[in-house]
Amino acid sequence: MLTTLLSLLLIFALVWTLAYHAVSALVWSLAIGTGLFALTVAGVMPAAITGLAWLAFIAFATVANVKALRLSLLSVPIFRIYKKVLPQMSQTEQEALEAGTVWWDGDLFSGKPDWNKWLSVPKAKLTAEEQAFIDGPANELCAMVDEWKTTHELHDLEPRVWQFIKDKGFLGMIIPKEYGGLGFSAYGHSQVVMKISTRSATAAVSVMVPNSLGPGELLMHYGTKAQKDYYLPRLAKGLEIPCFALTAPEAGSDAASMPDVGIVCREMFEGKETLGLRVTWEKRYITLGPVATILGLAFKCFDPDKLLGGETDLGITCALIPTSHKGVNIGRRHMTLNAAFMNGPNWGKDVFIPMDWVIGGQEMVGQGWRMLMECLAAGRSISLPAQSIAAGKVTSFASGAYARVRQQFKTQIGKFEGIEEPLARIGAMTYLMDATRTITAGALDLGEKPSVLSAISKYHATERMRQVINDAMDIHGGKGICMGPNNYLGRAYQQIPIAITVEGANILTRSLIIFGQGAIRCHPWVLKEMKAAREDSIDKFDEAFWGHIKFTISNAARALWMGLSGGAGLPAPACTETKRFYQQMTRFSSAFALLADTSMFVIGGSLKRKEKLSARLGDVLSYLYLASCALKFYDERGQQKDELPLLQWSMYDCAFKIQVAMDGIIANFPNRAVAWILRRLVFPKGLTLIQPSDEMGHQVAKILITPSAARDRLIAGMYLPNDEKDIFGHLNAAMNAVIAAEPIEAKVRSAQKAGRISARGQDAIFEQAMQLSVITETELAQWKRARILTKDVVRVDDFNKNFGLAVVVPASWQHTMAAE
Ligand SMILES: Cc1cc2nc3c(=O)[nH]c(=O)nc-3n(C[C@H](O)[C@H](O)[C@H](O)COP(=O)(O)OP(=O)(O)OC[C@H]3O[C@@H](n4cnc5c(N)ncnc54)[C@H](O)[C@@H]3O)c2cc1C
Repeated sequence: MLTTLLSLLLIFALVWTLAYHAVSALVWSLAIGTGLFALTVAGVMPAAITGLAWLAFIAFATVANVKALRLSLLSVPIFRIYKKVLPQMSQTEQEALEAGTVWWDGDLFSGKPDWNKWLSVPKAKLTAEEQAFIDGPANELCAMVDEWKTTHELHDLEPRVWQFIKDKGFLGMIIPKEYGGLGFSAYGHSQVVMKISTRSATAAVSVMVPNSLGPGELLMHYGTKAQKDYYLPRLAKGLEIPCFALTAPEAGSDAASMPDVGIVCREMFEGKETLGLRVTWEKRYITLGPVATILGLAFKCFDPDKLLGGETDLGITCALIPTSHKGVNIGRRHMTLNAAFMNGPNWGKDVFIPMDWVIGGQEMVGQGWRMLMECLAAGRSISLPAQSIAAGKVTSFASGAYARVRQQFKTQIGKFEGIEEPLARIGAMTYLMDATRTITAGALDLGEKPSVLSAISKYHATERMRQVINDAMDIHGGKGICMGPNNYLGRAYQQIPIAITVEGANILTRSLIIFGQGAIRCHPWVLKEMKAAREDSIDKFDEAFWGHIKFTISNAARALWMGLSGGAGLPAPACTETKRFYQQMTRFSSAFALLADTSMFVIGGSLKRKEKLSARLGDVLSYLYLASCALKFYDERGQQKDELPLLQWSMYDCAFKIQVAMDGIIANFPNRAVAWILRRLVFPKGLTLIQPSDEMGHQVAKILITPSAARDRLIAGMYLPNDEKDIFGHLNAAMNAVIAAEPIEAKVRSAQKAGRISARGQDAIFEQAMQLSVITETELAQWKRARILTKDVVRVDDFNKNFGLAVVVPASWQHTMAAE
């Protein structure tokens, strides 16, 4: 009995080890054959079972190792079924899937991320020129913009600000120097957008749009020489203001279904019969549309008369149309939640454009969607993440400072545990966002176009932006709610949904894109299987399918082992404080690969419609990426111990959220028997991970409310002038003054406790303290300064009863109001 038990245990350990290491079919066969031989010689199994075991082994070994047999008995029938169940993919879906590159996401999908490779990815750096631009023109721009005037009085940037933006080349940051642009790196570009965003969303968006997906980027990659030579220098110097119009009233997230068309035709143009397109469109939400001089336009191209010689349905096409062109209607303006950047609709009916207005010329007709998807993959990593991290930096700075200067119940509110919670979220999320932004932008400079990681970066940066702004609003109480020039949070709060919605609305991105695209793009075998089906190649399918099976079995074995060990003992970069985090993430990467494969095998093509499951799988992939970035960021910055609380909070948060998402996947998995097995494999010891502790939160909050090197690094890159007349300069001065006054207050308190001070009222108490030499005259002045600055910080704006509405309401309303 004992021998049988030991033999079974031995077999189990052997199988587990082979599975864990994903050995080849030949090694499996040799190992099983040797084991079976040993058992037969030992005579521990009854003869009938031994005979059956040998039969099964011979069948397995032959089919697994003799390709012809494997093909005819297994691979070909499976291939037939696979081709039947493989969901049909439209051209646009295919182009979206193939856009961009696979980078670290490939490692995360592999179940075995190579951390040393990850840490050796070069760090993003600014050139001296980029740094000078950030310290020079970018700073100047921030100083020039008055956000209240912009958003409340002018509903636009001041003309001098627009001119400065154009003159200094802000609109041509991505345009190469040979065309007169600044030729900045993605990281440099991201730093500039981030800095401006800490001052004014309106200025930031106005700068962002020409530098992200739009005419400039499309021309650089796909334009003809003539188009580049003409437009790029003009765009670089702001002689042209571009916009890009993709979204239509009936086609938002599903932009590829746009009803806008261009019909290939010949018409008289500038006195000559010209080959071109008759375009009809109606677009909305187009940023910079109302002030644009060139309109980048996406429409579907048809060639009913086969003038181009081929198909009639040619696909989505992008063209550049001067807004002064006859038939282009720019219309009026949308009011985008009190952000004052220009945004509006545009339309045209049967507007003739010559073929050489198509970006890239005739050759690129029908290539528009591929062009857009390829550029979106890169662009999504820059603008919106930079804007979101700006919110993180501003809320870290302002909430920390405000929580230090604002007192309630005779205590600084930042010292209340209740306030520590949002402060900790703000600080740690800012750190995590900054890590993700920096590393993803750096990847672009290495030539990557990480489509899935850029979607993760955009989604998670904007969601965290929503969280930190909401938290900052709570910390500021009424100060955040009363609008006016002294409210530095209100506009950001109002504008949260903009970043959430643009460049792929977040619910869609989470539910459909991150895992949907990732599973196909980054998985080591899925795309190969699909390509084999497209090419009808059984050989390629055979290799991909069995590779996939081996991969899944290996991840099942790895997930279980690491679930039991918590990842202890796994290889990890040598850093005592972070080693466990690396091991934990390797564990989750394996478990993720298992869950992803099982979902694809069991649910198949309908996984696309199971958006809640797909979203949770996407969450796991996302947190794995965010955690990877935080670890690399910490390492890149020299493993500075003072920022360890920020890293630890972020890592605990990511790990806990991975657990929640995985638990949700298993709890809602449609096949309950498979779910039962998955739970035992992924969580063999149950749900053991905890949220960041209260102590961790306390340490992070302390960083925010105390001037320190860690705090300076956290908020580095934001616009923070020394000028006390500036809203942030003032807040900073108040914080420093309050901190300087703290020991003075302590002296006065002890004198009070000792019964030496009899005066009532703050001012009188401190005056008496000075007279009794408890504090010096200078200290009294210091305390008074702190008090005045604090009073100014907590002050909110007030207005006339009608808020000055008389200025903007129609005359008829004014009469009614006057009568009232
Ligand atoms: C201020 C602003 C500026 C913009 N600038 C430009 C511009 O310059 N150029 C341009 O072309 N476009 C622009 N857009 C459009 C923008 O990029 C979005 O694509 C667009 O707003 C999304 O379409 P929609 O608003 O009609 O929302 P809808 O597509 O109607 O989406 C509504 C909701 O449904 C969700 N949803 C949609 N499909 C799915 C799905 N399959 N699964 C789950 N959820 C789904 C979305 O996530 C969203 O939450 C701008 C939009 C705004 C608001």
